[in-house]
Amino acid sequence: MVLRTSPPSRAHLRLLAPADSAPPPRRRDRYGEIVDRRLAAILAAEDVAEEHGLSAHVRTTCYVHRCWVHQCISDPMHIVIVTGHRWCRRCDRTVVVEVDETAPGSVELSCDGCGVPPDTAANREVLLACRTSLSAMHGGEASTLYVVPDA
Ligand SMILES: [Zn+2]
Ligand SMILES: [Zn+2]
Repeated sequence: MVLRTSPPSRAHLRLLAPADSAPPPRRRDRYGEIVDRRLAAILAAEDVAEEHGLSAHVRTTCYVHRCWVHQCISDPMHIVIVTGHRWCRRCDRTVVVEVDETAPGSVELSCDGCGVPPDTAANREVLLACRTSLSAMHGGEASTLYVVPDA
């Protein structure tokens, strides 16, 4: 005769709501509904690259607006006064970004206040990000869009 121990109580499982047992949404689905799968892939790759040291300011895609960065750079969210991105410190006003998407595309920064191109490190990053984004959108041949720092 074999003595059986009673099975461990599973009563506590009933305390869980159905939502608790559902697996958390997987991060790679964040861009699941984006039709342009190449854009979606670069968005996801840049999210990971950022965790490994890529500056958010030189990304070619936008985490918030889920598009190429030159397409949303005119959004007020891309004005960062603290760092000086899209900001003219000479005039304390917004820097205007003019984008022409027609291949090969062009990006120009200007300030309506001083009329001088705002040539600061931060605004050079804005320019670089938008130009890289434009060439990436047009199917840029470069295998490396930018360099992720080692540190
Ligand atoms: Zn954006
Ligand atoms: Zn200015």
